[in-house]
Amino acid sequence: MQLKCSFCSMPFALNNEQVADAIEIFKKDSHAHYDAHCPKCRRSTKLAKKAFELNPTYKKMLEA
Ligand SMILES: [Zn+2]
Repeated sequence: MQLKCSFCSMPFALNNEQVADAIEIFKKDSHAHYDAHCPKCRRSTKLAKKAFELNPTYKKMLEA
């Protein structure tokens, strides 16, 4: 999953393992946020469930 750091605008990606972690978090608490750590500035960009639902594959995983 491609995203962009909210602090330094560095584009980076979440690997499948990180996406799977995020899905687990949202399954337990749909109002939770996943912290995606920027490889450049190391600050965390908070992602809501909504950000994952935009991707049809992740949406299915969230509903499973
Ligand atoms: Zn950054």
